[in-house]
Amino acid sequence: MISATGEWNAAPVLDIDPPQRMLHAVGETPVILLGDTLAPVLPHTGRGANHGIHQAHGLAIALSQHLHHGADLDAALAGWQERFLPAVHHALHLGPYLAPPWASD
Ligand SMILES: Cc1cc2nc3c(=O)[nH]c(=O)nc-3n(C[C@H](O)[C@H](O)[C@H](O)COP(=O)(O)OP(=O)(O)OC[C@H]3O[C@@H](n4cnc5c(N)ncnc54)[C@H](O)[C@@H]3O)c2cc1C
Repeated sequence: MISATGEWNAAPVLDIDPPQRMLHAVGETPVILLGDTLAPVLPHTGRGANHGIHQAHGLAIALSQHLHHGADLDAALAGWQERFLPAVHHALHLGPYLAPPWASD
């Protein structure tokens, strides 16, 4: 099938260092990173969109706890980060094992 394919496409696959935070600040303004902006996992890991949706859903819950139930905003966001950042680290760690560099030789 590969040899019969006339036109091939290729995209670079890059590993990144795991992000240490999802919560940032630009000056006084809080900034939240999630999805691929936080950390694009390798395509063959098949988790990028799942992570982003899961993180966004969790963020909506954290913000709702603040808005509707009076939870402290910083505490709600810190809890959200603590819950979702480890899954990103796990996926980034798995990527090179699923397709190590020697697999493309
Ligand atoms: C080949 C391949 C296979 C994949 N397979 C899977 C899979 O099986 N399962 C899975 O869960 N994930 C998979 N993924 C990963 C998934 O596609 C991404 O993780 C997901 O789309 C990331 O969503 P996002 O919203 O964070 O970013 P994006 O989908 O990249 O969305 C960002 C949006 O922001 C827009 N934008 C950029 N700059 C600006 C700007 N300055 N102003 C306004 N808008 C801007 C862009 O146009 C884009 O629409 C795969 C990815 C690839 C490449």
